Amino acid sequence: MDDLFIEDEIIDLREKIAYYNTLYYKKAISEISDSQYDQLVKRLQSLEKKYPQYKIDDSPTQQVSSDITEKGKIISHKARMYSLENAYSLEEIEQFIDKIKKLDDCELTVTTELKIDGFSINLYYENGKLQYATTRGDGFEGEDVTENIKTLKSIPNEINYKEPIEVRGEVYLPINEFERINGEREENGEKLFVNPRNAAAGTIKLKDADVVATRKLDSIIYSVGLFNNPNIKSQHELLNFLSKQGFNVLETGHVTGIEAITNQCAKWEKSRYNLDYEIDGLVIKVNDFQLQQKLGFTSKSPKWAIAYKFKAEEVETQLLGVDFQVGRTGAVTPVARLEPVFISGSTVSNATLHNEDEIKRLNLRIGDYVTIIKSGEIIPKIINVNHEKRESGSTEIEFPKTCPVCGTPLKREEEGVISYCNNINCPAQIQRRIQHFASRVAVDIDGLGEAVVKQLIEHKQINKIQDIYHINFDEFQHYDKQGLKSTENLKNAIENSKTQKFHKILFGLGIRFVGAKISKILCSYFNNINKIINANFEDLVEIDEIGEKIARSVYEFFRNENNLLMIKSLQDAGMKMISENIEIEDILKGAKFIITGTLASYSRNEIKEMIEKNGGKIISAVSKNLNYLIVGENPGSKLKKAKEIESVKIINENEFLHMIGIDE
Ligand code: NAD
Repeated sequence: MDDLFIEDEIIDLREKIAYYNTLYYKKAISEISDSQYDQLVKRLQSLEKKYPQYKIDDSPTQQVSSDITEKGKIISHKARMYSLENAYSLEEIEQFIDKIKKLDDCELTVTTELKIDGFSINLYYENGKLQYATTRGDGFEGEDVTENIKTLKSIPNEINYKEPIEVRGEVYLPINEFERINGEREENGEKLFVNPRNAAAGTIKLKDADVVATRKLDSIIYSVGLFNNPNIKSQHELLNFLSKQGFNVLETGHVTGIEAITNQCAKWEKSRYNLDYEIDGLVIKVNDFQLQQKLGFTSKSPKWAIAYKFKAEEVETQLLGVDFQVGRTGAVTPVARLEPVFISGSTVSNATLHNEDEIKRLNLRIGDYVTIIKSGEIIPKIINVNHEKRESGSTEIEFPKTCPVCGTPLKREEEGVISYCNNINCPAQIQRRIQHFASRVAVDIDGLGEAVVKQLIEHKQINKIQDIYHINFDEFQHYDKQGLKSTENLKNAIENSKTQKFHKILFGLGIRFVGAKISKILCSYFNNINKIINANFEDLVEIDEIGEKIARSVYEFFRNENNLLMIKSLQDAGMKMISENIEIEDILKGAKFIITGTLASYSRNEIKEMIEKNGGKIISAVSKNLNYLIVGENPGSKLKKAKEIESVKIINENEFLHMIGIDE
């Protein structure tokens, strides 16, 4: 592959990982599964190894991702907090052990500890009293969460040991408590936590310790930071010591020899479901502290420990029935109704069956026993049917011939597998179209989720996207569960959406085959909604990455009178639908740029696009040839180097945007 593409892929991976890290560590949200995330990291690690010229210090592979949200008090750790290197197979564990044995040819003893999936904390004691508790933060400093941590019964306020000590462990939510909280949230119409880890992470930073106390967080302690006690010579001794101080310490393996280690991994991979908390692996640590010291650390993790990550879980359950859902494009999707079953951190009662052909492929009947996995631990999927267990009463699944919501005869797409309801006034489609428009990835109207959209449709306030901008809020505030505060919040969110970026609005319109990426391409090519409306099929198809199918869909969308009325109405409501860089050309002619750190408003690729559109260039190395370094949050070593070259101008994102005439 061309080196330039490699660099692009590396930058893209870093950007994606940084995005998922921010969501995961700062907001307790997982948009992708842990294994999907781990695959991105693995790919980046292998590219950085193969192409060391692109290795940088501020890559997510080299740093502990920060959970600091700037809201709380920040406290420096006395000793650094690290992450862990991951292994995904027993072979990788063997390699890890072999590598250490090459360095120190001894009878290597390790501890095998359960890797609880929670949130890491640091507890500092002086004179035997808890002084403060912090999050891991960026490994150097963390956020103060003392008041919340004090609500945990398993964390002692006082210990016998009087010397200064940093105690480290994991705060987690037991599975039954996680289910209880989610049940309560569901009843209150609140967003559910995806898994116990995110629930624990979301809870630990709450502002109200009374609320934290109602959620029964627990803790497990497994290590120390600052600790000067020469009597403790191994991890095994340390765990005993910590247990005697009153901390919850897990029973762990203390084993020698690769066979015993891999047996432990295999054993816990199976028995993890018997625990009342979630574990995502086993941590293998060199027992002897002297050897640990000899091995040392990388910039991110200890070289004397590794996390063996478990594979995705499979469980069997029964198919109770099949529902047919109508999506925003009219596509009818069969959804399996399952006997509820707990898998990979949450209770599952539905799984998509995709289409009619998938049902045939699985040879599935109602009443069958099926194996499900969470593809990427997030979306439940049926992978297998246990035909041997089929009971005599099982019934065939009949795919409907008419729309289950409005009764319109369904049409199967030519050469495709999906059946469509072609009635654009079908109530199910209206509901989904409006939800899509309001979603976070589109114009982002917080508070306009499924339940609220449903209410508004039922009260005949909305039945088209543009109706959102004409809601009667005096009426709305009297609807069930809507108070003054939620009315005000929704009003503001709708008002803010009017200034949303053009490509997000275009995406929100729900044009078939036009996803987030194609929306961006169209907006940067045409600059203005009127140009897209007036583009003919040939204009569209000549754009790189836009094939005939997309071009036809876009062209036809804007030939529909109702869609044009919608655009006009959105414009009248105040949506501009023009690209930011309109009429700005070659302002940056020849100027060379580098971006370092995480940017606040735009992604690296978006800034890169803006630079290139305006005649500038992105380069990779800091030298005298560089004109501008754009600096975001957590800049890397490039900033230090650039400061040494007088001719390089160091600017932030807003200054850059100002340069090209976009003032945010
Ligand atoms: P990690 O999961 O790779 O391992 C380090 C952490 O394990 C420690 O900080 C500690 O908190 C915990 N731990 C639990 N038991 C332990 C024990 N006995 N000894 C030592 N440590 C123990 O850590 P990380 O860097 O916090 O997270 C990376 C992982 O988080 C990824 O591999 C991925 O699974 C997940 N992640 C997911 C997303 C997503 O979007 N889904 C995003 C970011 C991270």
